[in-house]
Amino acid sequence: MLYPTELPGHLRLLQREIVTNGLTSVWCNINGSTLVQVTMQDTRSLLLETDFPPIQRQKLQTLQVNLGYLCNLSCTHCHVNAGPTRTELMDRDTIGMVLQYLSTKSIGKLDLTGGSPEMNPDFEYLVESATDMDVVVMDRCNPTILVEPGYEHLPEFFARHKVVVVASLPCYSEQNVDQQRGKGVYQDSIAGLKKLNALGYGKPGSELLLNLVYNPDAPILPPPQQELEEDYKNELWADHQIVFNELYTLANMPISRFGARLLAKGHYSDYMKLLRESFTEENLETVMCRSLISVDYQGYIYDCDFNQMLSIPLLASDKPRTHLRELLALDIDGLDIGVGEHCYGCTAGQGSSCSGALN
Ligand code: SF4
Ligand code: SF4
Repeated sequence: MLYPTELPGHLRLLQREIVTNGLTSVWCNINGSTLVQVTMQDTRSLLLETDFPPIQRQKLQTLQVNLGYLCNLSCTHCHVNAGPTRTELMDRDTIGMVLQYLSTKSIGKLDLTGGSPEMNPDFEYLVESATDMDVVVMDRCNPTILVEPGYEHLPEFFARHKVVVVASLPCYSEQNVDQQRGKGVYQDSIAGLKKLNALGYGKPGSELLLNLVYNPDAPILPPPQQELEEDYKNELWADHQIVFNELYTLANMPISRFGARLLAKGHYSDYMKLLRESFTEENLETVMCRSLISVDYQGYIYDCDFNQMLSIPLLASDKPRTHLRELLALDIDGLDIGVGEHCYGCTAGQGSSCSGALN
């Protein structure tokens, strides 16, 4: 097995990938033939020491819950290393704690993510229970799940519970989507989005909200959100008569699978330089960690999804890991947020968050 910081020129990255103990392995072919397994480096140790400015929490408004790393896709940019072979899933007891926290702390928004959050067997139980408490539920889905056998009923389920659908579609071009996410993913995504539109999602005047998410598949910043939204709307309407509400543009974080690929291809330093040089101070006011907290599949708490992936502990307690059950007794408003070099990914240019650009 090889442990490269850069892939030698004769190795070509293939899509197949295995994650063991947090390390990403990819299959490569040498000179177009032999397969070798290459364990890729992790960026964590490069990100912990930072001069990123200190930031503090404001009032908590959103509980973001990662229901597990199981996903029907295995995208090249995935910051959680999700995929079809992952087995980590939030259990019913932890979901019970999520509901207790929402109710006790009167949190109005539940933001569900994964992997494919819908693949957690208790996904529908959680959505039904949260919406019964008048909590607004957002589902971060990849739209291909809506046409997977066993999940075809989800659009109607979403509509019944007025779930806000935040669907990732990394480009409006078939070639780019299939390159980033796998062959056939574009057409399945279009089929999933059409099912949502047929129920009223994304249509003018409808209360059913459908937002799309774009991220680049290269070590560059996303283009201006407004302009790209126009392009998406024009192209998706012209080609497929698909409508949606807003486009969220996200910068890729130099962590997990994307971070490993930056290192493997020798792009890590240039990408970090770009993020740092694009620092925009006003984005510090609105970075998402100020009003959001992230829960992992075991119920441990982090300042955001990215800190969760990097195991950067919440600064609210002196423990290496804080659990949701302990958070019930803590008041975290005003506390310091754990930052690292990756935080420059949130403040670069127009800024980046789970709800798209910050300015
Ligand atoms: S980016 Fe989203 S759809 Fe792709 S593997 Fe990760 S969780 Fe799954
Ligand atoms: S990476 Fe997380 S902690 Fe850092 S600024 Fe972004 S949201 Fe906040």
